[in-house]
Amino acid sequence: MSTSTQDYYGTLGIKKTAAPDEIKKAYRRLARKHHPDLNPGDKAAEKKFKEINEAYEILSDSKKKSEYDQFGKAAFEGGHGFEGFKTQDHGFGFSGADDIFSDLFSGFRQEHAPPRGTDLVTRLSISLEEAYNGVTKPITLTREVSCKACRGSGAESSRSCSQCKGSGSVKQNRGVFRLSQPCPACGGRGKVISKACKACRGSGSSVSTDTIKVKSPPGADTGSKVRLRGMGSGGVQGGPPGDLFIELSVKPHPEFKREGSSIYVDVPVTIIDATLGGKIKVPTLDGTVTMTLPPGTDSGKKFKLKGKGIPHRKSGTRGDQFAVIKIIVPKNISGKTKKALEEVGKAYGE
Ligand SMILES: [Zn+2]
Ligand SMILES: [Zn+2]
Repeated sequence: MSTSTQDYYGTLGIKKTAAPDEIKKAYRRLARKHHPDLNPGDKAAEKKFKEINEAYEILSDSKKKSEYDQFGKAAFEGGHGFEGFKTQDHGFGFSGADDIFSDLFSGFRQEHAPPRGTDLVTRLSISLEEAYNGVTKPITLTREVSCKACRGSGAESSRSCSQCKGSGSVKQNRGVFRLSQPCPACGGRGKVISKACKACRGSGSSVSTDTIKVKSPPGADTGSKVRLRGMGSGGVQGGPPGDLFIELSVKPHPEFKREGSSIYVDVPVTIIDATLGGKIKVPTLDGTVTMTLPPGTDSGKKFKLKGKGIPHRKSGTRGDQFAVIKIIVPKNISGKTKKALEEVGKAYGE
């Protein structure tokens, strides 16, 4: 077990003059890094972990440390071999060890909690009007959910695990320490299935197709997401379900163009209205409004209709609409109209 060339100070990466808390700190850092549970199947990490433990056992004990400082590893060889005190429980001034390990393993215990179900992502297409007003739409979704009959446990009945006596953890020797580990027989649950659930044949989950109402608030845009907590896949072994994310996409509109919270709409006007000015009708997402066109309006001129754009999703503040004037030149005019326009042309020329 003990490597004859091992230098305990070197193993922990500390100086000979290191104070007890520095030794502990170095040990803690290295033990975390090389712990076999964090490096499964890594022989080098396992060897390193053993060396770290061995070094710490000596250097954290003032008596053994001074023997080691005087005689090197020879102090522990021969009749008083290192293996000798390995069998004893740790009581050599190892007060820090329990803390270190409760700390080290708190992370593992969490990992062995029943896993949460996966998050699901689905898409929903809405019209620009629906994005503007907000909408509630049904979607149909097939997903794995926790079995209702057994609440995801997979068991119709269960009994206490004999290996861990229902505690969910087992003690294991790891170098010089006895560590608490999740029980492999019951996966840390403390219970084993004695009779499988009939509804799910022991799997704990079932496939369910449901229609879910998705509420899209006013102001949604392509890429906006709606999150429905707990509507994702069911958790395993009683773990919580995941969430459902609905990614919205807003269909292009034939008439209105959207740019963020602004709406643009082309408004055709006659050459007469453009020249003389007048009341014109402008479509908005809220219905048609009447706008006064000033005389002498050029084609392409934009008029702002304040607050007629898309509301901001969070603040509710409305964007604006822009009416873009398009002058329509008359075609296929009658002889009478042509004559009248010729008169206008003459007057215009003067
Ligand atoms: Zn068990
Ligand atoms: Zn079941």
